[in-house]
Amino acid sequence: MHPEIYLDANATSPVLPAAAAAAMAAMQDGFGNPSSSHATGLRARAQRERVRAAARRVLGAGQGRVMFNSGATEGIQTAVLSMLCAVRERRAAGQPCGDLLLVGATEHKAVPESLAHWNRLLGAGLGLELRTLPVDADGRHRLDVLRALAPRAAFVCTMAANNESGVVSDLAGIGQVLRDTASPALWMVDCVQALGKLGLDLAASGIDYAPFSGHKLHAPKGIGMLYVREGAPYTPLMCGGGQEAGQRSGTENMAGIAALGMVLEALERGDTFRSHADLHTCRARLAAALQSAFPGIVFNAPFEHTLPTTLNFSVPGASSADMLELFDAAGMRVSAGSACSAAKAAPSFVLDAMGLPAWRSASAVRLSFGPLFDDAALAQACQRIARCGAALAGSPPQATAPATPATPATSAPAIDAAGLELAAAAVQAWLAAHPDALLVDVREAREYGVGTATLHQRATVNVPLARLGEHTGGWIGDGARPLLFVCRSGGRSARAAQALRALGHPRAWSLAGGFALAG
Ligand code: PLP
Repeated sequence: MHPEIYLDANATSPVLPAAAAAAMAAMQDGFGNPSSSHATGLRARAQRERVRAAARRVLGAGQGRVMFNSGATEGIQTAVLSMLCAVRERRAAGQPCGDLLLVGATEHKAVPESLAHWNRLLGAGLGLELRTLPVDADGRHRLDVLRALAPRAAFVCTMAANNESGVVSDLAGIGQVLRDTASPALWMVDCVQALGKLGLDLAASGIDYAPFSGHKLHAPKGIGMLYVREGAPYTPLMCGGGQEAGQRSGTENMAGIAALGMVLEALERGDTFRSHADLHTCRARLAAALQSAFPGIVFNAPFEHTLPTTLNFSVPGASSADMLELFDAAGMRVSAGSACSAAKAAPSFVLDAMGLPAWRSASAVRLSFGPLFDDAALAQACQRIARCGAALAGSPPQATAPATPATPATSAPAIDAAGLELAAAAVQAWLAAHPDALLVDVREAREYGVGTATLHQRATVNVPLARLGEHTGGWIGDGARPLLFVCRSGGRSARAAQALRALGHPRAWSLAGGFALAG
């Protein structure tokens, strides 16, 4: 059985083995600095240019610039800076340049945050106004609003595909509106979620700036690309040694470039990744499994307008947090929305912008897979989804906590006698030293029901945090027996251990990091 099914590819994706090997080779053998003029450097330079040529072909870059950088966030800053400098120059020259910074309502936060930041720093006197371009109920940009505002727009940002909903923008329609209205706007399209999933022909599209991140398509984190249309204004963000023809200084991330090259070559060859038709089949199977597991499910974006690799759904009566915990317990990694906002647990602003009812954005679950997703993982995912559905419906036998037997105090010293938290690295030794310990899993019964009921082969009992009170008396009466509380990530178990200590049980611990770090 697959220990973990990774269904969060829009957050990041596993590195293609050939890409990891290429990165390793670039570090071990081809470690030259591409700016050096000796043979080692020349070989690195040749490799960098081979990758750039592949990128040009895959992106349809024509005569535009393609430069390597650290990822989309950097590419977005560079585009914003270039635009602001161009507006300043055009204003000074009395040329039309617009006064609105139009940002699609569902853009990744990197876009509006960068615009607000750089406009605050450099926009004094330019009078530029950040304005949201709304989306319709399907998550697509309102072309009527764009048509009305385009003559005043200095910058238009319309991502190619949304990271939360998977909604694919009508770039042809947007380009047409910008041309029809003779808009002075520079146009940025965040293509992070499009690479390898949508056909790209950037030079023909009229797009001025297109940022990419390698890690969204099986390359490592920290390598990205920025496409700039031939003739579009450009101002470097990073200055220094003049690398990338002075467009982006700093010694190149050759390991990342080599790895990205492998991914681009695989895309070109078409023999490594699933075809688009295959991806549609995967989505259909996952959607069918979800529908049968969760009968009230609603999908939050229409399939005909979404990437086949993203499913965003809500289940009535189950919050995003409930669903994430359930899926995590079943060994499936999904998310509620973008990884950047995962810690905030706020309702999805993307779904809010589409005008979906509040319960749907507060219950949203995003399931996303990459073109390397294999059949075995797909089959496992469908089975586990069925188990999650049964658990949510309350059908699996709920584990109950047995009466706590009285056991003699162990003479083995506690590894972390003073502290409350037991580090994951220490847990096996602790378990060996405490053969009599009671392992209490404080997750919800449904999480316990779909996952494993053991910790390092030792049986656990399930006492959900809310039902702790029913057992504390017995455990305290039996105060010598060590208690180790566990949960998904260590939050609930820490509260349980704290409660027991506060109630007078001296030997209660929590496993720091929970099952997530326990290995
Ligand atoms: N744009 C989109 C659509 C994204 O999904 C992300 C990452 O989640 C970014 C931009 C930022 O990418 P990075 O964090 O790799 O710079």
